[in-house]
Amino acid sequence: MKQLIQAARGMRDLLSPETDYFLSLQDLLLKWSNSYGFSYIRLPLVENEKVFTSSLGQNSDIIEKEMFYLKGKERGEKLVLRPELTAGIMRAYLQNGLHSLPQPIKLFQIGPAFRKERPQAGRFREHYQWDLEIIGSAEPINDAQIIQIIDSLFKKLKLKDYIFKINSIGCPDCREHYKKKLKSYYQSLNRKLCLDCKRRLKTNSLRLLDCKNPICQPFKAKAPESLNYLCKFCQEHFKKVLEYLEEMEINYELDHTLVRGFDYYSRTIFEVFFQEQNFAIGGGGRYDYLSKALSAKEIGAVGAGIGIERLTSVLKMHQVKLSFFKKPNIFIVQISEEAKKAAIKIFELLRKNNIAVAENFAKSNLSDQLSLANKLGVKYALIIGHEELGNENVILRDMKTGAQENIYWSELIEKLKDKL
Ligand SMILES: [Zn+2]
Ligand SMILES: [Zn+2]
Repeated sequence: MKQLIQAARGMRDLLSPETDYFLSLQDLLLKWSNSYGFSYIRLPLVENEKVFTSSLGQNSDIIEKEMFYLKGKERGEKLVLRPELTAGIMRAYLQNGLHSLPQPIKLFQIGPAFRKERPQAGRFREHYQWDLEIIGSAEPINDAQIIQIIDSLFKKLKLKDYIFKINSIGCPDCREHYKKKLKSYYQSLNRKLCLDCKRRLKTNSLRLLDCKNPICQPFKAKAPESLNYLCKFCQEHFKKVLEYLEEMEINYELDHTLVRGFDYYSRTIFEVFFQEQNFAIGGGGRYDYLSKALSAKEIGAVGAGIGIERLTSVLKMHQVKLSFFKKPNIFIVQISEEAKKAAIKIFELLRKNNIAVAENFAKSNLSDQLSLANKLGVKYALIIGHEELGNENVILRDMKTGAQENIYWSELIEKLKDKL
C-alpha cells in the first residue's frame, strides 16, 4: 500500500472551526490596529538571510540553529524563511523610502514566522504573529503607545490576570558597562552554572538572565540590575515611558531579569505575561539600532509582536466567542429530482437576500437531510417535495418543536425575515 504523505515536520493544518476563529480574530486585529492609525503592510515570507544575520545577533538561538534555509543561492545570496517579523519591516521601510515621509510611520502586519525548533508535543515551527511597529521616532510616548494598543484590546476583551513586565537595557553605551558588571558577577558563579550559561558567559552575557534552567534561577535575584547602570538619557527616557503608562492606568511591573533574545533591542523592552497560564504571549521593545545594522541610517523605532496561537488559547480560556462566517439558520431539504431544481433556485434566492442557508443536494432522502440539519443546529428546515412543487409552496419545519407550516414561494423571503 502506498504510504500517506504527511505534513512537514513541526507544521500543521488549521481546519474549521479553528479557521473561523482565526479569521475573526484577524478581522478584529486589522480593525483595532487601523483605529490607532497603523497601516497594513504585507511582506514576503522569503528574505535574504542578511536581513536577520546582520541584526538579530550571531549568538541568538535563531541565527545559531533555528533558520530555515532555502536550497541553493540567488545571485550569491542565501535565502531563508523569515524567523521573525521586525527585521523585515525595517528592511521594507528603508527600501521603500518611507523615511522620506512625515515621521513616525506606523505599520502592522499579521502573518507567519518560521523557526526550526526541536519538535515537541504542542510546539510548532510555524507561528502567526500580530506585529505592530512605530518607525522614525525615539520618543518615549511611542513606547507607551505600543503597550496601550495591546492593553486596550485586552481590556475590551475582558481578559484578566495579565501584566506588562518591563525593563530598560539602555543604549549601546551604557549597556556595555552593564554587561561587564553582569559578566563579572556570573564569572564568580561559573562552576555552578548550567552548560548553556557557561557558553553565554563567553558569547552574550545579557542572555544569562534569560536562562530557564532551574539550577540558574537562584542567581538571577542577586544579579546586577540594568536600571542601575543606565546613562542619563536612558534614565530620563525610561522614566517618561513609565509616566505615560501610569497616566493610562496600565498594569505593569519592573522586571530586571527581562532581556529578550535579539541584539537589536535598546532601552525599553517588555513582555505581556499571563499569570495564571504562566506564559508570555508576546512582547517587544525599542530597537533604535536595527536600522544601522541594515543601512547607514540611525532610525528610532519601537514595536511589539503578539503570538496568535497563544492569544487564541488565552481567549478560549476566557470564553471569548468570535465568529467570522454567518452560521446558517435554514437547511433546504428536497425529496425528488424535480424538487432539486426548485431547491437550487430557492437556495440562491435566500442567499441573495442575505439569509445564511445550508443544503446537501447530493442527498434525496428526507430523514438523512433532517439529521444533517439537526447536526448543523439550524432553526428551520425548508422542505420541498412533490406536492409542494405543484402548490408552489414549501414546508417550514421548526427544528426544535417539530411544528410545520406551508409558505408560498412568493411570500418566503418576507416570512423568513420576520422569523429569523
Ligand atoms: Zn544609555
Ligand atoms: Zn543557565
